[in-house]
Amino acid sequence: MKIAIAGSGALGSGFGAMLYRQGYDVTLIDGWEPQTTAVKKDGLHIDINGEQHHLNIPMYQDTEIPQDAQFDVVFLFTKAMQLQDMLGHIKHHIHENTIMVCTMNGLKHERYIANVVDEARIVRGVTTWTAGLESPGQTHLMGSGPVEIGALVPEGQANVDTVYELLEKADLKPLKSDNLQQSIWKKICVNGTANALCTILECRLSNLNESEYARKLVYKLTNEIVQVATIDGVHLNADEVYHYLIDLNDKVGPHFPSMYQDLINNNRLTEIDYINGAVAKLGLEHDILAPVNQFVANMIHAKEEQRQAQ
Ligand code: NAD
Repeated sequence: MKIAIAGSGALGSGFGAMLYRQGYDVTLIDGWEPQTTAVKKDGLHIDINGEQHHLNIPMYQDTEIPQDAQFDVVFLFTKAMQLQDMLGHIKHHIHENTIMVCTMNGLKHERYIANVVDEARIVRGVTTWTAGLESPGQTHLMGSGPVEIGALVPEGQANVDTVYELLEKADLKPLKSDNLQQSIWKKICVNGTANALCTILECRLSNLNESEYARKLVYKLTNEIVQVATIDGVHLNADEVYHYLIDLNDKVGPHFPSMYQDLINNNRLTEIDYINGAVAKLGLEHDILAPVNQFVANMIHAKEEQRQAQ
């Protein structure tokens, strides 16, 4: 079985490394030239939960995938705004049964992926593995999962089983979600509160809990997200989710969320349009207003412009 990791930054490298270590035929693909060059030259250096590994995994720049390369399973791990571009490259290297796996953060990636494969061949999900990229070719993977996966349509269940088996053998701790849309929306609640607010306020997760104003913002954002989620048939209790989020902020208190790391530490563009921006946009399509989510998305964009993020 030939596996491609389409988007081999932090998390893609982590998943690629775990699969490769189990003997799977893995190819890393990436659009950021420094990452491709470093891995091609000196392999992937990865710290997996404190253990150092040096792996010579084959790697290609996304524009230079060999013409005859064909993949059976493609894990999509770009940033959300890079997804369409990556799909444009990878679509020439799939066949009629290729499975596309997407556990990226954000809403409705399947709308783009469905332009390339039918819905039954999309395995969607979310993950709590965490990864980082220290410098090109040097990454880390931390945590113990899980990777929650599910099918978008009943005919996709066999593909979920195939991906489950791969992930389990690679010790990536898969879980079959009994309510895929609910898992996705719960993750949106986490990302749509902590990521955006810590980035605007330039603070750690624990600092959100210390401010009554910030807690009120968490509550407002959560309420709107929960209302918009009903469009997908997901019925979450806003108060329960709010208390879960406040507890989570306490547990991982000293941590800076990934959006903070991208924009504040590295001046990189964020996935805000696929998180709070997507909540507001989807809501609008169905006459459910989410003005606080839209405001937060605008604030992040203003900050991106101010910092000339790329
Ligand atoms: P990433 O930013 O590490 O990688 C995405 C792309 O950006 C890759 O092409 C990578 O090579 C490139 N890149 C990395 N550092 C760069 C830099 N300094 N300058 C320019 N380009 C750079 O993304 P990720 O963290 O692996 O996330 C992939 C997807 O998974 C996203 O949707 C993310 O939200 C989601 N996710 C990530 C984590 C995590 O802990 N990293 C956890 C859960 C979900």
